[in-house]
Amino acid sequence: MLKIENLNVFYGGIHALRGISLEVPDRKIISLIGANGAGKSTTLKAIMGLVPKSEGKVAFDEKDITSAQTKDIVGSGIVLCPEGRRVFPDLTIAENLTLGAYLRKDKEQIKKDKQWVYELFPRLLEREWQLAGTLSGGEQQMLAVGRAIMSKPKLLMLDEPSLGLAPLVVKDIFSIIRQINDAGVNILLIEQNAKAALEIADHAYVMETGSITLSGTGKELLASDLVKKAYLGE
Ligand code: ATP
Repeated sequence: MLKIENLNVFYGGIHALRGISLEVPDRKIISLIGANGAGKSTTLKAIMGLVPKSEGKVAFDEKDITSAQTKDIVGSGIVLCPEGRRVFPDLTIAENLTLGAYLRKDKEQIKKDKQWVYELFPRLLEREWQLAGTLSGGEQQMLAVGRAIMSKPKLLMLDEPSLGLAPLVVKDIFSIIRQINDAGVNILLIEQNAKAALEIADHAYVMETGSITLSGTGKELLASDLVKKAYLGE
C-alpha cells in the first residue's frame, strides 16, 4: 500500500536520506528504528510532503504521491502524529478530537469514532471538557494519537509515541497501537524504544545515517546480534 523507492532528501549540504526504500503492506505494523539523527523523522516528513525530495518515488495505494501537496496526501488517507504532543492547549479534549475530523462529513461515523477513541483511552473521556494544555504529558500523547485516528486514516504514522512516558504508560500505548491496527489501520512507527517497536512490528527496518542497513520481521531483528548490541543494550 505505501511504497518508497530510492528516496533522497537534502537539508542544504546535509544528505539526510540516502536512497531509502521501504514498504508498508496492508494491515501491518512496520517499525523504523535507529539512533538520533538517523533520518527517521525526515522519512515521515518526506512521505507527508513536508520536506522536498531530491530523488525517489513514493506511492500510496498504487498512486504516485511523490510530488503531491501535503493536503492532498492527508486527503488520500495518510496522517502523521508528530513527536512532541502537538495538541491545541487552549481547546478541550473533545474539541481537539472534533478538529481531527475536520476534513470528514460523515457525522454519524465521526460520533462513533469519537466513542471508539474514548474506549481506547478512557482517561480522555473522564477529562472530556478539560483544556488539553492542562493534561499530563502521557495524556497529551494519548490525545494526539486519538486526534490522528479521528481523521480516519488508512495509514497512521507515529513519531516516537513513547517518548518521555512512564514505563507503564508505554505498555498501554503499544497495546493501543495494536488495537488500532487490528481495526484495520496500517501503522508506520518510528521509535527510540527499539525493543517495544520490534516486539510489535510485523516487519522492521534499521536506519543508520540516512540509509536502511538492516530489515526483517520484528522477531528476526530482536534476535539479531547487531541489533542486540547497538539498540537493545545487550
Ligand atoms: P531523532 O530521533 O533525533 O529525531 P531522526 O532519526 O528522526 O532522529 P532526523 O530528525 O530525520 O533524524 O534527522 C536526520 C538528519 O537531518 C540529522 O543529521 C539532522 O540533524 C538533519 N536535519 C533534520 N532536520 C533538519 C533541518 N530542518 N535542517 C537541517 N538539518 C536537519
